[in-house]
Amino acid sequence: MDNINSNIINVSDISRLRMQTDGEGVTTLVVSVGCPLRCAYCINPFTWDGTCEKSKKFTPEELFEVLKIDELYFLASGGGVMFGGGEPLLNYEFISEFIDKYKSRGWKFYMETSLSVPLNNLKKVADKIDMFFVDTKDMDKKRYEIYTRGDYDLFIGNLKYLVDTLGPEKIIARVPVIPLLHKDKEYEENVKALQNMGIKRIDVFRYVYPESRKSLSKTALERREEFEECLKKEKYID
Ligand code: SF4
Repeated sequence: MDNINSNIINVSDISRLRMQTDGEGVTTLVVSVGCPLRCAYCINPFTWDGTCEKSKKFTPEELFEVLKIDELYFLASGGGVMFGGGEPLLNYEFISEFIDKYKSRGWKFYMETSLSVPLNNLKKVADKIDMFFVDTKDMDKKRYEIYTRGDYDLFIGNLKYLVDTLGPEKIIARVPVIPLLHKDKEYEENVKALQNMGIKRIDVFRYVYPESRKSLSKTALERREEFEECLKKEKYID
């Protein structure tokens, strides 16, 4: 999945007036549909499991009309728009066009991404984004691929590209402690690996262990079960 229709973004939610959660000042989060990863404890599986029923498609002009409601807050606080998902870099052409059109408004543009996309997607928007919040999942290739079913080499290559071209000061790495997969040693290894790349802003957080499976779709539940079977096979758990 390289990208989605260039002039349209499919959005499942727009969350307004967020403070100190993503980026500086007041931000509005745009949650786009679609993700190449299959994280076992994904908090937004509707973005990839086919159960999203309430999404809406926007052109850049239509999205601007919705977001500009909060322009005064953005300008007064130094805030702006956070593109999240799912994986926002699947919409790199839309986001690139949107920022080119509206950057003169003085808004900031942030992105929360897993970086699991072709490098070309990242190159098109990298220097237009004020701050990247990178969901790192795991810095170990085997654990990363067990947890996400994604391509570790793609992720790590993109992270290196960002560090080399933008500098580490434009990156905040989000490091999860993942139930069953991580004990203290693993997440400490992950933090160290990021520090060795020169990344200084590292935000460690713990996934709340997902007790209830009732709300999961069949697809998301099967993915979680497959992950747990894999952990047994690889002797991470008994
Ligand atoms: S990157 Fe992982 S957690 Fe985020 S939406 Fe995709 S599958 Fe879910």
